[in-house]
Amino acid sequence: MTVRVRLAPSPTGTLHLGTARTALFNWLFAKKEGGTFLLRIEDTDIERSKELYMQNIFEGLQWLGINWSESPIIQSKRVNEHKKVIETLIDKGFAYRCYASEYELDEMRENQKQNGLAPRYDNRHRNLTPEQELEFIKDGRDPVIRFKINDQKLISWDDLIRGKMTWSGKDLGGDMVIARRAPADSIGDPLYNLVVVADDSAMQISHVIRGEDHLANTAKQILLYEALDLTIPIFAHTPLILNSEGKKLSKRDGVTSISEFKDMGYTSEAMANYMTLLGWSVPEGVNERFKVSEISEIFSFEKVNKASAKFDWDKLNWLNSQVIHEMSPKTLFKNLEPLFKKNGWDIPSQEWGRDLVELLGPSMVLINDGVDQAKPFFEEPELNTDGKKQLEIKEAKEVLSFIYGYLQKLDSSFIDEMQALNLIKQATKTCEVKKGLVMKSLRAALFGTLNGPDLIKSWVLLSRFSKDRARISRFL
Ligand code: GLU
Repeated sequence: MTVRVRLAPSPTGTLHLGTARTALFNWLFAKKEGGTFLLRIEDTDIERSKELYMQNIFEGLQWLGINWSESPIIQSKRVNEHKKVIETLIDKGFAYRCYASEYELDEMRENQKQNGLAPRYDNRHRNLTPEQELEFIKDGRDPVIRFKINDQKLISWDDLIRGKMTWSGKDLGGDMVIARRAPADSIGDPLYNLVVVADDSAMQISHVIRGEDHLANTAKQILLYEALDLTIPIFAHTPLILNSEGKKLSKRDGVTSISEFKDMGYTSEAMANYMTLLGWSVPEGVNERFKVSEISEIFSFEKVNKASAKFDWDKLNWLNSQVIHEMSPKTLFKNLEPLFKKNGWDIPSQEWGRDLVELLGPSMVLINDGVDQAKPFFEEPELNTDGKKQLEIKEAKEVLSFIYGYLQKLDSSFIDEMQALNLIKQATKTCEVKKGLVMKSLRAALFGTLNGPDLIKSWVLLSRFSKDRARISRFL
């Protein structure tokens, strides 16, 4: 079988984590099977669909390394094809116009509620006579087109993730609306389930891999495939992603879109790695830290859980720090340089930049941590409380004066590591203080705080930027 899969996002918002995870599973599966991964933009909701969101979706997928074949299908451009499919359904007697008004439908639902029944359309206009129809038309009613759903029918499929699934026709809410605003001379606006079937079939999609929230749609779509005599694809429904409280991950959880994760400083590699683990368990003996481009061979739906996946920030952070720690200084600097520049920071040289990020890298979890940590190298820091306390110690000033005096006597404007070490040793001896006091006072004067990366390396970098003397002299 030729494997053809697709992602069918609606451009009504930015690329959501759940959609990106579905994209990854589709892409991994296509890669494993030597198949094709396609993109279809479901923009039939004209009012809510935006070009901006479409671009965000493309960029997000590209950033994650998910590449698609062929030009993306833009669903709204296929509306004539969709209408033809609806015409076929009407011609074959599978679909009809329903003229029930909003008021009548509300009343119907209210009655059902009062009788303890689940709300559903009661198929009241399934068998209208031509005379009845004419009356409604004369009445100026705005009909919809409904597809007949047989309540007695059991709909089954073998889901690649969830196994054998069975839905009863009676649980699908009655005859389904497949087009709105459809007066007698027009097919109107085709709706979701119909257009998905028409498009998946036209695109020769072999496997529909999408979120578990589409289970009921799958049952409805299978009925459409059958009515239209089309080949039914194989289905796989991926588990939902829940927040730490076990609720569906939503906007309320803060970040949900891929571009937001990117802006926070997550790497594409860690994101793709983490999202693959949202629902998929690695086979025994395989490390959870991997490059998605290298695991398609071992990816399989048997290892995708039926149970929902809980979003775990700690794990994502751990993966992101792993990715950062594995980066060469060159790569890490490439990631940080634009952010430094955005802050208006002048970088003395590429080499200096690489040395700086090499120093900061080991304590970074997010790429953006590198910006916070690099700040005192570029901008004169305020003394924090601990730094202030340190510099209030009587001997601190003496130590700083000694160091400053020594630096002033140097020929070169910057020092190397040997010189820095020596100078600390000499200050300790001359001022008769502990080495710790020298180190802490120096750090406070240079960086405003008592914590940070290796002091000698930091100092050397600052001196290469000719900033160390000025900073020390502030406290003399
Ligand atoms: N546009 C639908 C969504 O974003 C696609 C569902 C499907 O894959 O069929 O949920």
